[in-house]
Amino acid sequence: DYALNKEGIVSPESLDQLSKKSFPICMRGCHEYLRTNHHLKHGGRMQYGLFLKGIGVTLEDSLRFFREEFTKKIDAEQFTKRYEYNIYHNYGKKGSMISYTPYSCLKIIQENAVQDDCRGCPYKTNDASMLKVKLASYGLSSAHVQEVMGYVSKGHYQLACGKYFQIMHDSPVELGVHHPNQYFEESQNVMG
Ligand code: SF4
Repeated sequence: DYALNKEGIVSPESLDQLSKKSFPICMRGCHEYLRTNHHLKHGGRMQYGLFLKGIGVTLEDSLRFFREEFTKKIDAEQFTKRYEYNIYHNYGKKGSMISYTPYSCLKIIQENAVQDDCRGCPYKTNDASMLKVKLASYGLSSAHVQEVMGYVSKGHYQLACGKYFQIMHDSPVELGVHHPNQYFEESQNVMG
């Protein structure tokens, strides 16, 4: 379980920086969508909220983080009524009391196939031109964008993600990516 023994090692204040350096684009996209639109629908909240739990954001910090963003658009009472339960639930503090596991690539690619704000794997859900613009805006040269898109065009989304990791970390090898939280941990290891 990616969330084990990590509670509290990542604060919400560090997410802007971390999302640029150490998040795969599925989670970077969620972070940026939330910061820009101050809202995420259920699927995106599950995908991103569980990932945050897995990198070590505590329940209290998650509540604060989502509340601060959402209440730029809705009032605090509405946030409490409509959204808090779901965050407690993800941490196993309400309802079935099961602590939910962050989503794997397979789950995100297969089950979050319908794009709905940030939900899903962008290598699959974004159309090619949108994806190229996104990768360039993240700092990839046009040659690097082409390398990533080579995998995308064949439907090899996780290989595309591994190539992106290699480029972003100036790493000698492509990472075999199977989980967004694994991507994050490998990145943190490389960054030292
Ligand atoms: Fe996220 Fe996995 Fe897609 Fe990479 S391959 S963007 S980690 S779902």
